[in-house]
Amino acid sequence: MLQSGISLQGVMAVPSVLVVAGTHGNEVNAPWLLDRWNQDPELLNSSELTVNPVIGNPAARQASCRYIDRDLNRSFRADLLALDGDAPRPLEVVRAQELIAAYGPKGRVPCQVAIDLHSTTAAMGNCLVVYGRRPVDLALASLVQGSLGLPVYLHEADSAQTGFLVESWPCGLVIEVGPVPQGVLDLRIIRQTRLALETCLASLAAAGQAEPRYPRSLVVHRHLGSVDLPRDQDDQPRAVLHDDVLGSDWRPLRSGQPMFDGCSSDPWPASPQSAFDGGIPVFVNEAAYVEKKIAFSVTQREVWPVLGDWIAALAELMRG
Ligand SMILES: [Zn+2]
Repeated sequence: MLQSGISLQGVMAVPSVLVVAGTHGNEVNAPWLLDRWNQDPELLNSSELTVNPVIGNPAARQASCRYIDRDLNRSFRADLLALDGDAPRPLEVVRAQELIAAYGPKGRVPCQVAIDLHSTTAAMGNCLVVYGRRPVDLALASLVQGSLGLPVYLHEADSAQTGFLVESWPCGLVIEVGPVPQGVLDLRIIRQTRLALETCLASLAAAGQAEPRYPRSLVVHRHLGSVDLPRDQDDQPRAVLHDDVLGSDWRPLRSGQPMFDGCSSDPWPASPQSAFDGGIPVFVNEAAYVEKKIAFSVTQREVWPVLGDWIAALAELMRG
């Protein structure tokens, strides 16, 4: 797996890639794949890149839960990362600091790119998640979307959700594969994870070469906001998602369509018009987001031209 990059100008170090699985301890398929890959390097084509596979949250994996103290994938916030050894630190903050010290761009094994492998319980299939609008991330997402046709969920401008792992590396991408229940191994999910990861690595390798094949445009589903279930004074749900919404990931919401069902003889009142009308739901009834009080998130589909600046930025990064 370990390869050196050689350019026409001489021997140059092609940037190393960090591949993280099990950032959430109950998403078990990608960690299983990485374990197998460690034993059998032929299992997965790394496109001759130097790849460092790591389990994100081994303690949570051991305990078969998403996290121990707090969500690791919300723990890469500057204020948390700045906590020093004298302060009481949640286990995941310590782990985030360890990962950056080991594999961050200035770490002991410096990596310039982080690929973070996740799974979803929502019926949304597979997708890529990009945080914000860094040109290198958009370039990489364009190449992978051009190869696999995966939708891209662009998560930005959400003050309630910050501190994502890949943001601590110069370039990063999340691969979400599903649907699969938490804690369940599934051969199809393992194969889809492998395909998406191989395509990502091939895209990174190609990005530093002479003529990577970029699509003309990138289709993104830009995050607009999230919707919670209606709740009573004890904070319990008064209604559940209507079956028109269940499983409707990636399909536009119709104005006035029923969102909730209270399972009573009276139909639940139609939702008032909102900024989300015509929006496209994702992560509908995602198990991991119950604790975050997110019944689904709403996005807007946008088509962006693939810019020369993105291509140049990723080429520069991958040429080392
Ligand atoms: Zn996850």
